[in-house]
Amino acid sequence: MPEAKASRSFAKASVRDSEVEGHRVLLRADLNVPLDDGEVADDTRIRASLPTIELLRDRGASIVLVSHLDRPKGPDPSLSMTPVAKRLGELLDAPVKQAPAVVGDEVTAMASELAPGEVLLLENSRFEKGETKNDPALAEALAKLADVYVNDAFGTAHRAHATTEGVAHRLPGYAGLLLEQEVGQLTAVRDDPKRPLIVVLGGAKVTDKLGVIDRFLGFAEEILIGGAMCFSFFKAEGRDTGNSLVEDEGVEAAKRVLAEAEKSDTMLELPEDLVLGKKLDPGTETRELNGVDVPEDWMGLDVGANTSANFGRRIARAGTVFWNGPMGAFEIPPFDAATRAVAEAVAAAPGHTVVGGGDSVAALQRFGLADSVDWISTGGGASLELIEGRELPGVEALQDA
Ligand code: ADP
Ligand code: MG
Repeated sequence: MPEAKASRSFAKASVRDSEVEGHRVLLRADLNVPLDDGEVADDTRIRASLPTIELLRDRGASIVLVSHLDRPKGPDPSLSMTPVAKRLGELLDAPVKQAPAVVGDEVTAMASELAPGEVLLLENSRFEKGETKNDPALAEALAKLADVYVNDAFGTAHRAHATTEGVAHRLPGYAGLLLEQEVGQLTAVRDDPKRPLIVVLGGAKVTDKLGVIDRFLGFAEEILIGGAMCFSFFKAEGRDTGNSLVEDEGVEAAKRVLAEAEKSDTMLELPEDLVLGKKLDPGTETRELNGVDVPEDWMGLDVGANTSANFGRRIARAGTVFWNGPMGAFEIPPFDAATRAVAEAVAAAPGHTVVGGGDSVAALQRFGLADSVDWISTGGGASLELIEGRELPGVEALQDA
């Protein structure tokens, strides 16, 4: 684990070095969990936030906790933080107080009454229109609720919002444990990976992952491409793609990437076989294709067994594996086979393995392999932007170490 190196390269003040006893801390966490029938359907993100909450409680701070939940355009009772407060209370085995709003007189009063170790969860930050606009008045009102700020919300660190960025300019700001580890792990892959570095990319769109491809072309030893994005490459090579998902914008990008790969030391590996279906539907007619020219009326919905075996052998030889994006339409069997095979290869790989991307992580969890990977990023968009080398506003705004 590049833990030591990671924390050395992390230039922001850590909550580990904060003196918070008797202080009130505004903690921005990423508690944006999926709900089902008014209950938390997957508490991974709540669990990932526990170490920082527990550290602050152990040190005698009181905590004003804030997160967004989904994307309400204003107050929306169906997206209240109530289910999150309930689940968090169970996990902490301590009461979690719930504020009726994000800011306001009542919230201020509740915050000022907190005793050391107590937690007050604010309402969904996106109930306030000023949140996504990074409104200075909202940032100011949030800052008044506490005297220290901790950002542990890596999943929204690429957004300059009032709770992730604006407020950080108004209070002494520290990085939470999760945010610090995420940045450390991903920065190590980006800047100083154990060699060889094998990057496995899939998913729906090339343009989503273009910045990542650009970062790793000429830097990684190998880039293995599966998922629907391979069809933009095949189209760029002048092949038949049938009804496969081809992103028009992606084709031009793929042409450029192919030309650059020619000139670079990075091997760009595309699929050699495919699994086809008539429709993106369970129970649809399927066939295997040894080759990659997709006949008319068929869609490429997964990469084939030879491709996943080849990718698996390469993953097994890697010093570092970075995987982002499923190999096929894994939600619909039998088009989950290659994603499962790659997930198994990543889980068994002796090298350092890092997985990012909401759907790739969901696939790992579905296959029961999440515990066998060295680092699973909780932040889809944020992890991609960090890998691309972009600054994350939610990190930049924190105090330097
Ligand atoms: P991640 O969230 O891991 O970054 P993406 O969001 O980029 O991944 O892409 C995941 C989606 O891509 C999944 O819903 C999956 O079904 C879809 N997908 C992958 N391969 C194909 C394919 N060949 N045809 C259609 N959809 C695909
Ligand atoms: Mg996704």
